[in-house]
Amino acid sequence: MLEDPVVQEILMDITDDEKNSFSIIECIMNGKTSDEEISDETQIKLNVVRKVLYKLYDAGVASYKRTKDPETKWEVYSWKFDQNKVSEIISKKYEDLSKKIEKSIKYEEENIFFACKSNGHRYKFENASENNFVCPECGETLEYVDNSTVIVELLGDKARCMSMGKYKRI
Ligand SMILES: [Zn+2]
Repeated sequence: MLEDPVVQEILMDITDDEKNSFSIIECIMNGKTSDEEISDETQIKLNVVRKVLYKLYDAGVASYKRTKDPETKWEVYSWKFDQNKVSEIISKKYEDLSKKIEKSIKYEEENIFFACKSNGHRYKFENASENNFVCPECGETLEYVDNSTVIVELLGDKARCMSMGKYKRI
């Protein structure tokens, strides 16, 4: 699951520290669950381990249980990584993204566009018409733009997003 580039991207979003979070999570999944054990095992400084763990906790993908060490009587935090939650976050992210793309598709479909021949800036029909089809920035003529390829591309993006969101990562 950690090999999945989409998962790695999410961990990067959450921790800003993809490499360390990868090692730390791997360590937890292999049964080393206290911050000190993780630090020993991964050779990552204890304060960095803790920082990453709390960022994961904050995002809801890691949780901990406090137990008392029977010998030292010290409190030990034993960490757990929640893969389901990562899948949830990924689904949500791509759901949001495909909604945004859906909006762009609507915008493209519902409007007619004109663009400046020199700077390529696009104007909606209403604005182009108000300016007598002359670019308000540089005075060049505005020409009709066929946006059908843009729409096709957006539809492709949306389909990719939806399949990414539905993909189960466990
Ligand atoms: Zn222009």
